[in-house]
Amino acid sequence: MNIKISSSHKNKEPESGVLYIVGTPIGNLNDISLRALNILKNVSSIACEDTRQTKKIMFKYELNNSLISFNEHNSLKKTPKIINDLISGKSIALVSDAGMPSICDPGEDLVKYAKSIGIAIVCIPGPCAALTALVSSGLPSSKFTFEGFLPKKKSEREKILLEIKENNKTTVIYESPHRLKRFLNELKEYLGGERKIKVCRELTKKFEEHIGDTVDEVIKFFEIKNVIGEITIVIDGKSNIKQKQELNQFKLKEELNDLMNAGLTLSQASKYLAKKKKLSKNVIYNMHKDIKD
Ligand code: SAM
Repeated sequence: MNIKISSSHKNKEPESGVLYIVGTPIGNLNDISLRALNILKNVSSIACEDTRQTKKIMFKYELNNSLISFNEHNSLKKTPKIINDLISGKSIALVSDAGMPSICDPGEDLVKYAKSIGIAIVCIPGPCAALTALVSSGLPSSKFTFEGFLPKKKSEREKILLEIKENNKTTVIYESPHRLKRFLNELKEYLGGERKIKVCRELTKKFEEHIGDTVDEVIKFFEIKNVIGEITIVIDGKSNIKQKQELNQFKLKEELNDLMNAGLTLSQASKYLAKKKKLSKNVIYNMHKDIKD
């Protein structure tokens, strides 16, 4: 592949002594920016979570650069060397196995420490599973809560589930495939089966799937299917349920009025609507009472 790569940040990139946080694909290797490729090609070295994963990108884009393994098991040991290299004027790119480093991936502490001692940090933004799932979910996406992976401890988990239950904003969660069914049952228990969710599987990959619409429907879907692949879950906010219920009731009232304006008695209109909407006739009667009150 012959791509012309140019750099147009403040100065020519990469700059000496800068730690670059580089976003990489979450599955589809074409999802990498020209700027990211330029950095990966030209920094002094790349600190990566798993050299085998990063080598896939290096191989595809014909990059030859030295890789330093930097992950949750060796980060304490490797941090001083990386910091010393930066202080001595080297430029370093930090990448994770997928997506944005520091989002449920190593890097957070290194960035925090580097920043605290005055090392320049520059982010080369790239894909993130949470945002990819959120914006394609069809649920409100301008305000949201990101929970990452839920804690395993029961009491901590319960606390967050109760927070999600009451949260008016959309919530995004990462979950491993073998814990998904348990998590869906917890959602049913705490939020109810009606809450809207989207289970996004294998985003950007060949078998990408978006499963929804409600907790009950997703549970049903996975009753006959094994859960495999990478999973991100998007959960609708609480207020949206209330708004939808109010909207449904508003529409029902309009329909009742239309039927009565067309000449049906209250009893006939209620009976008709109750059958059509699979509701009890009393619900319609009470609603009519509300209109008059
Ligand atoms: N740093 C990454 C990011 O920016 O999205 C997240 C890393 S976290 C260790 C890995 C989790 O992200 C997975 O367990 C899954 O929940 C989610 N994830 C990563 N890639 C995904 C994909 N292609 N489709 C769905 N979820 C994905």
